[in-house]
Amino acid sequence: MNLFRVRGIQLAVHFSFILWLVFRAQDGWQEGGWPGMLWGTGTLLAFFTCVVLHEFGHSFTAMHYGIGVRRILLMPIGGMAEMDDIPRQPSRELLITLAGPAVNFVIALLLWGGLRLSNAATENAAEYSLVGFLDELRFWNLLMGVFNLLPAFPMDGGRILRALLAVKMPYLGATFWAATIGKIVAGLCALAALVVPPLVFHQTPAYLLVALFLFIIFAGEMELRAVRRRELDDAHWRAVLARVYAQDVPPPLEEPPVLKR
Ligand code: ZN
Repeated sequence: MNLFRVRGIQLAVHFSFILWLVFRAQDGWQEGGWPGMLWGTGTLLAFFTCVVLHEFGHSFTAMHYGIGVRRILLMPIGGMAEMDDIPRQPSRELLITLAGPAVNFVIALLLWGGLRLSNAATENAAEYSLVGFLDELRFWNLLMGVFNLLPAFPMDGGRILRALLAVKMPYLGATFWAATIGKIVAGLCALAALVVPPLVFHQTPAYLLVALFLFIIFAGEMELRAVRRRELDDAHWRAVLARVYAQDVPPPLEEPPVLKR
């Protein structure tokens, strides 16, 4: 479902997102009537606004390097910026990737500073209060930034790892190792989600976390395969071009006449 465009980027939400909004509204209503319902939908919308800002961080940095961004898709598990290309220069991929979590840390810092300056009592904020809302948002942004930096490819942390590895080894090899380490990290996190009490994960149900980490393992494998396929295609075309050049283009025997004086 398309929403609106920002600097040419189409913002779209997945249908299941609406279901989640309805669920939050109903849950909030049962818990605390109108204020509860407002709180339930308001926190979800604010949270996903921050997800969009995170994706804008990636997108605007990519656009700075001349990479087109067609769409930002919001799904219940998070956002995704669809870029025309992922730059092979490690330094560029590094900056594009870092820009996302950096946005969350800046938001968290601003909220923390604002709450501190206004001497708001965040410790015992009243239920459904503005202070409680802002403090919750500060917490979620901090968590979003840290969580995305987990070295679980293709999450941001995994991309950073790939960019760092790509300085020392070929791109495909760097992707393979980043994906392999990512699968191990995601597997360990899934195990931890089952063992550690849900309170640590801010009461997110364990099965949701396990599903999320399994999805990360799957997405990492898919992206590794895509890179491998592209690498094979590139090698094929390089070989074809090399043959064409070898056959059709004679080596220059003398300087072109125009250059002679
Ligand atoms: Zn990101």
